[in-house]
Amino acid sequence: MDKKIKDRRITHCLLLPYPAQGHINPILQFSKLLQQQGVKVTLVSTIFYSKNMNKVPSNISFETISDGFDKGGVDEADNYKAYSDSFRKVGTETLSELIEKLDKQGNHVDCIIYDPFIPWVIEVAKRFEIVGAAYFTQNMNVNSIYYHVYKGKLQVPIIVDEISLPSMPKLEVQDLPSFFLTYEEDPSLVDLLVDQFKIIEKADWILCNTFYELDKEIADWSIKTWPQFRTVGPNIPSMMFLDKQHKDDEDYCVSQFKSEDCIEWLNDKPKGSVIYVSFGSLASIDEDQMKEIAYGLKNSGNYFLWVVRASEEIKLPKDFEKKSNKGLVVKWCSQIKVLAHESLGCFITHCGWNSTLEALCLGVPLIAMPQLSDQTTNAKYIVDFWKIGIRAKFDEKKIVRQEVLNDCIREILENERGKEIKNNAMQLKNLAMKAINEGGSSHKNIKEFMNDLFPLEP
Ligand code: UDP
Repeated sequence: MDKKIKDRRITHCLLLPYPAQGHINPILQFSKLLQQQGVKVTLVSTIFYSKNMNKVPSNISFETISDGFDKGGVDEADNYKAYSDSFRKVGTETLSELIEKLDKQGNHVDCIIYDPFIPWVIEVAKRFEIVGAAYFTQNMNVNSIYYHVYKGKLQVPIIVDEISLPSMPKLEVQDLPSFFLTYEEDPSLVDLLVDQFKIIEKADWILCNTFYELDKEIADWSIKTWPQFRTVGPNIPSMMFLDKQHKDDEDYCVSQFKSEDCIEWLNDKPKGSVIYVSFGSLASIDEDQMKEIAYGLKNSGNYFLWVVRASEEIKLPKDFEKKSNKGLVVKWCSQIKVLAHESLGCFITHCGWNSTLEALCLGVPLIAMPQLSDQTTNAKYIVDFWKIGIRAKFDEKKIVRQEVLNDCIREILENERGKEIKNNAMQLKNLAMKAINEGGSSHKNIKEFMNDLFPLEP
């Protein structure tokens, strides 16, 4: 952290998220905070991924590098190892060329904020004597699990029923990230996750999209493990913090999908009455499961807004109406706006980390239906530790049946437990707001990071 940048006017940060929706969103939100302090921000994505991005914010510069798979991205590669190896090799070259090009244009890069999913970026930053800040987009508890696998403290494939890791409650094997349980199918996927830690200590800063008050134990453990660790979240569009709304908020959501307007539909629904359903940008839902959700929502008699991505639509039951008195199915929406709407009653979610933080920051109770990856661990924290949701339990075929879903909906919208969960969610919402507001834990950490980038005049 000793490289000081003297002139605040020329401070220029490159943002390099892993090319996936859930990774780009929070890093972009974080950059907004830097931009408001006068930092120039350039978002960098891969050539392939950038073809799918529908809009880049007008006040953010945009550049591309190559991962070696310009036609099909990760799907073009044989497996994650092939993709990661190529991204490292071709990415190192093309990122270096980009930094040189920007330098020649008078846009010297001072700092790279990068995703530890692409750990080699720190080596490029070091070579150019640029500040390197690793930014974790996932739950720090999940990161800690990956770290312990990397350190050999947790063996994969997992053969024990329960694990105990420092600063974390006991976790059962089904609460661990799903890729450990499907290790044999593609071990290189696990490598991608644990390799995040290979050279992490070289980073000048290690930032995470969470806030201290949400999980003090894991934050304390992280800072003990890496002194340069700081919590800087929640980094979500600030329109959620209604007192901090910015007119350019919508501009900051770079998406592969086009949002459909559903706010008008929500406007005339009673307060706290609508069930919002979304499984994020990646999860693919089993056809049988889609049927159970469809009839579960319909038969619950409640209002519902369901995001079914275009690629998933074919799995909807043939007789299911996409628009009716009670329900609306959209391909994609502005989730932030939906969660902030007062008609929202609860959110049936896959428990992606961004969706979790967004709901938490708006005090929306959750019904957890984790599908894969870190979602299983997030669900455990949502239900058992933060107590801001309940779990929809699946049967022996791993399907959540419509009756179960209906019980969960009733429990949240009508029962005493639902009220408790709503209260817990509102408490966490308040803590999240405190953390990000002036003087709060994340606010202080961001200030410290900024001061390192451009120290204040003595
Ligand atoms: N999202 C959105 N509209 C939708 C569904 C999702 O804007 O219709 C956004 C959501 O707000 C979140 C991101 O997409 O910021 C999904 O990230 P998450 O970590 O929840 O899940 P992932 O897509 O990585 O599985």
